[in-house]
Amino acid sequence: MNRTLKSINPSTLEVVGEVPISSVEEIHKQVRIAREALKTWRETSLSDRAECLSNAGQALVENAEEFGEILSKEMGKPLKSGIGEVRNCGNSIAGKVKAIKSALQTVVHANDSAQTSITYQAIGVVGVISPWNYPMAMPQWMLLPALMAGNTVILKPSEETPLIAQCYVDTLNQFLPAGVLQIAHGADEQGKALVEADINLITFTGSRAVGIDIMKRSADGLKRLVLELGGKDPLIVLRDADIEKAAEFAVSNSVDNAGQMCVSTERVFVHEDIADAFEQRVVDIAKEIKVGPWNESGVQMGPMIHDKQRLHVLNQIDAAITKGASVLLGGKNLRKGYVMPTVLGGVTHDMSIAKDETFGPVVCITRYSEIDDAVQQANDTVYGLGAVVFGRDESATEKVANRLEAGMVGINKSIFGVGDNPWVGAKQSGFGYHGSPDGYRQFSQVRVISKAAD
Ligand code: NAD
Repeated sequence: MNRTLKSINPSTLEVVGEVPISSVEEIHKQVRIAREALKTWRETSLSDRAECLSNAGQALVENAEEFGEILSKEMGKPLKSGIGEVRNCGNSIAGKVKAIKSALQTVVHANDSAQTSITYQAIGVVGVISPWNYPMAMPQWMLLPALMAGNTVILKPSEETPLIAQCYVDTLNQFLPAGVLQIAHGADEQGKALVEADINLITFTGSRAVGIDIMKRSADGLKRLVLELGGKDPLIVLRDADIEKAAEFAVSNSVDNAGQMCVSTERVFVHEDIADAFEQRVVDIAKEIKVGPWNESGVQMGPMIHDKQRLHVLNQIDAAITKGASVLLGGKNLRKGYVMPTVLGGVTHDMSIAKDETFGPVVCITRYSEIDDAVQQANDTVYGLGAVVFGRDESATEKVANRLEAGMVGINKSIFGVGDNPWVGAKQSGFGYHGSPDGYRQFSQVRVISKAAD
């Protein structure tokens, strides 16, 4: 029976398009095709692999407007962000594959008696499972190092954003040999089938709960895993911080992508001496954000991806209010499909909104008097993706930054770094990582060959 997956515009609930859902048998067949294609792709030179992918990058840029519209329609983000995501993906491929190629070069050590070479070879068939919040960027950051290492790939994109994933794969396939990259559509059933199929490595970006399930299911075959999971990022605003800059960051990093970002600011700890002024600025900035559908002019924030996510966020807000949090802005379910930018004051550590991932446009503010308490609460979570500190005294600010249990820490700025640094979570925000030479090498089998000198 042919089943189809409908892609829904989250603002209007209209159907944007549909794709066929893959059956479990089809996924197994794709794995066999991928194994066959592996025979030649793994022997293709790094330069040729890089060229195929760079050419695909150019094609993405050429189609940025058309693809950006599809992305925004089915995911809900403003058109400018949708086009920007496609353009960034396309523009970054050439540089990325160059960096990956250089990370995968053979290394040779020699002395008088022997020569040892370290090579980075294909692992085999790689399953890529991606979320919907950056529906082109997320597949790409997992696919590129996997393909560059000579592996063949089956992508299982999110069921919320199948159309843009299909556009992406179709574009890359204009430049790749048949069978090197395939796509399997569906939801958890197809994700599980791919994890349990005869593949060698799974690279997953998504929730912690699904990450745990994937680990269990992949244990039997001892499949390799690269997991990028959720977060509950804290922002600590020290007593001497620049209130204006800290407030601007708190709002933009809480509501960007409607808060549906793994490194969004989910908790703000502000020193009590500056808390009134800080909260006032946060409210003033947040109430100016223009909310609306993807194609409305000047819109800065779109809807929640679906009703389940919207209700999850609204329930967390309601539960926090019941436990004593005060609503400084928003909070009410005023618009179908959306959570309006919300600012909560008086958030305490016993509230679900202070512990569990929210993934919505909410600034949750807790006042502190002792920095030790703020750091202790900031660290009291299973997650450890990102964390940010704002403060003027460099040494004091760095000391606080060093105490935060997160893979990526920002000081007076976001966690986004300069250069090719790793994207990495600590604790239960995942293991394995993306970006940087070590990150790229995770998609290879390292082989060491030592031979006697003549
Ligand atoms: P999700 O975990 O619900 O789904 C992610 C993907 O996994 C989807 O393709 C889904 O169909 C598939 N899936 C669901 N159940 C599965 C199973 N049992 N086995 C295999 N595959 C399965 O996540 P989401 O709602 O799409 O995305 C939001 C989550 O992703 C948040 O927790 C967010 O923090 C996280 N995220 C993390 C990063 C990071 O870099 N760490 C980046 C983006 C998103």
